[in-house]
Order: sequence, then structure tokens, then C-alpha cells
Amino acid sequence: MPTPSVRESALMKSKRRLSRRNVLKTGAALLAAEMGRLKTAPTVVEAQQAPAVLTGTQTGRAFRGLVRHGTTIDVQELRLRPIDPRQVVIRSLAVAPCYTIVRGALSTTPARRAEVPNHCGFGVVEAVGALVKRVQVGDRVVVAGTSQCGQCYQCLHGNPDFCQFTFFSNTDGAAPFAPFAEMRDGTPVDAQAGIGGMSEVMTAFEEYCVPVFTDLPAAELTLLGDQLASGFAAGHARMQFEPGSDVVVFGAGPVGLGAIQAGRVTGAGQVIAIDPIRYRREFAMKIGATSTLDPNVEGDGIVERVRELCQGPNDRRFAGGTTYGRAGNAVMARGADFVVEAAGLQAFPPKVEAQPDPTNVKTVQQAWDCTRMGGHVMLMGFTLQPVPFPGASLALLGRTIHPGQQGGLHVMRDLPRYVKLIEKGKIDAKSMITRRYTLDQGRQAIQDTADRTIITGVIEFS
Ligand SMILES: [Zn+2]
Ligand SMILES: [Zn+2]
Repeated sequence: MPTPSVRESALMKSKRRLSRRNVLKTGAALLAAEMGRLKTAPTVVEAQQAPAVLTGTQTGRAFRGLVRHGTTIDVQELRLRPIDPRQVVIRSLAVAPCYTIVRGALSTTPARRAEVPNHCGFGVVEAVGALVKRVQVGDRVVVAGTSQCGQCYQCLHGNPDFCQFTFFSNTDGAAPFAPFAEMRDGTPVDAQAGIGGMSEVMTAFEEYCVPVFTDLPAAELTLLGDQLASGFAAGHARMQFEPGSDVVVFGAGPVGLGAIQAGRVTGAGQVIAIDPIRYRREFAMKIGATSTLDPNVEGDGIVERVRELCQGPNDRRFAGGTTYGRAGNAVMARGADFVVEAAGLQAFPPKVEAQPDPTNVKTVQQAWDCTRMGGHVMLMGFTLQPVPFPGASLALLGRTIHPGQQGGLHVMRDLPRYVKLIEKGKIDAKSMITRRYTLDQGRQAIQDTADRTIITGVIEFS
């Protein structure tokens, strides 16, 4: 008969007499056994850590990238500069330009520094700095627009969507990230936001890299670095739509459509999509919206239209009705449980239907106004002007305003979950891709994004 292991004999003893002293002794014996096991067999754990790969061989590596420089933007031959010990060299597989970069990327005013645009990407790790732990060579990684260092004050307080590695790395007025490459004439080239993405090779600090273990295509996975994941997180991570609830989404672009999909996945009672662009309203209906509104048709009456759509089956306030009364605060009590403002300002006049308020100020006010008393609203779209709110209502109506920074996404926690949801067909990433481009068509991808003639354009690298 084999002799019982330390763990088994400790358990057998613990069954004999249950006292505080014995419980503590048993625990100590188990811990000692575990420590012994770890001491004698460390290789399993350590083998899963990234090896310390020195990257001197990568310095000078030639590759091509879309570069905004001087008064233009075009594809340039580039050479990689040495990386930081905590940086990762990634061979790009796919990238989707974000609408927030179009104004800068297509501008014809002289650029202060040469720069590869965008702030996300997807690819294969080909080298890691000596201190990198999170990823290893061969990993497929989403390079997200927001880092999650896990060590800063914000990360430690449960807010990695405000990770200080992203937001406070440019103190003292110094450039936060050193140029990652140079052009043939030696001109240093930055990666926008320290990430870039629209080049055959990108470098990123490991804090931005999320390894994913799946066979899903790169073109779909790259959408998790920014817009789709941010929109989905709005309803899943930050606001947490409740089943059966009324959800309203302003803006059916790549971010808003992520929120609309979150409404479908979380079982919202209805998802009202608001967008001036007809093809986007039609697409919203295919991907999760239950009804749509055109802000150019509804005008200032859009808030009342939403309240009508969100009214309960009766107006009996003691029977759960929400439409009681029509005066004063009773009107403001009605509305949606969750509202996402993902319209954003209009950086360029689009080639499709324009939004009624290019500044987005009014849309933000309407989003807030559509929210029921005690409901939740997330402001995701950029608005560069002050937005006035009625002070008394702000104080009394109990509407919670959520920050829209990446939808409250915790990249290391959430992206692996979203990968599973794409695998299961719950999140539809593929349909979000309207058009695919080569790197040489990169400028066109940005132009189409600015024109709003596509939902999402993906540049695929060969
Ligand atoms: Zn973005
Ligand atoms: Zn952090």
C-alpha cells in the first residue's frame, strides 16, 4: 500500500479532530507541502513566463509604414530604432483606423513630427525587451488603445481604463515615447500615442499588449483594440445593461454598434439606435437594434420620441408605469434606463448624411435628457465645447453620468472574454468590417473613415 502523501495525511488528521489548533496545523502542513512542490518543480510556472529575448537584432529592421510628415501622408520605407527593455516588437497583421485620428492624419498643415497614425493594432510578437513578462515571441496580441499596467493608483483602484501609464506618461512636457523608427533620410518617426499601428512593424510597451489565444482572423481581432471593444464595454463593463432594460445608443458607427451588440448580448428589452446615416440605421437593425430614429427627422423632438418608446405598458405609477403625469419632473422621470452617446463631433463633412449638430453639444444634452430619473448615461463621443446642463436637474434627477474612455474597458480582463464571445457568434466582428485595404491603400482607408462611407475599414498586412 503506498504511503499517504503529506496532503492526504494532513487531511486524514484534520478529519479526526476539528479544532482551531488542528485546522491551523493542517493549513500549515498543506502550505509546506505546496511550497515543497513549487521548490522542486518550478519549471511549469516559469516556462509560461516570457523569455528574456534581447532585441539587438531588430534594430535597423526595414519595413514600410504610412507616415504623416510635412504636409502630406504617404507610405515610407522605415528602419526600426532600438526598443526599451519593456517594449515589444510586433509584426502587424491588421489594423482599423479610428475616426478620432482622421482630422490629424488628413490635415495638410505642416506636421510637427513625422508620425505613424492610429492608436491600436493587432499582430504577432517577434521580439521582446529583456524585462517583458506579459507576452512572448510568437504570441498574437491585441495592442489596445488603453494600457493596463496593474500597478498604478488607477489600476489598483479598479479603474484600468484610466491607467496612469496611458494618461500620465507625458509629464514634464517631454515627449512620452521616443521615436520608434526613422525614415531613409534619418528623420525620426513617432508612433501616434506611442502605439501607431499603420505600419508593417509596430512597437508597444507591454502594458498595452493583450495576448489572445484563438484561431479567429486578425481582421476581426484588431477591432478589439479600440472601437468595437469600447462600445461593447460601455454596455457590459461600465454600465452593465440589465436584461429587459431600455437602451438608447446615439451614433451607429463602430463604437455605437459595439454598444448595440452589448444590448443584444445582455438581453436588453429594446435597443433604440439613433443615427442620421441611413445605411448605418439599417445595419444597426441587423446587428441588435430593435428600432431606429433619424435625428435629422426628429429634430428637437427626439427626446420626447425616446420617452414615448420607453414608456411602460400603462401610466399607473403604483403599478410600475413610467409615463405618469406630463408636468414638471414627472416628464423628466421618463426615459431610457441606459443611454450611450457615441455620435461624437463631426471632424469632416461626411459624404453621407450629416449629423444635425456637428459640434455634438446638443447630442450630449439630448442623451442626458433621454435618460430616465435614476438612469445611466455614458458620454463616449468627443465634444470640444462646453456643454451646459440645467443645474437643478443635474442635482435632483439622479442620472449617473459615466465616463466614456474606452467604455470602461479593462483590457486584460475583458478582451479574452470578448474573444470567446466572437468565437461563439455572440459578438459579430466580421460584419463590422465594410472594406479591406492594403497598406498602400492606407490613406484611402482613413479618407473613407472620415467620409463615413464605411462602418470599419481594416488594413491587412501581407
Ligand atoms: Zn480610437
Ligand atoms: Zn495602470
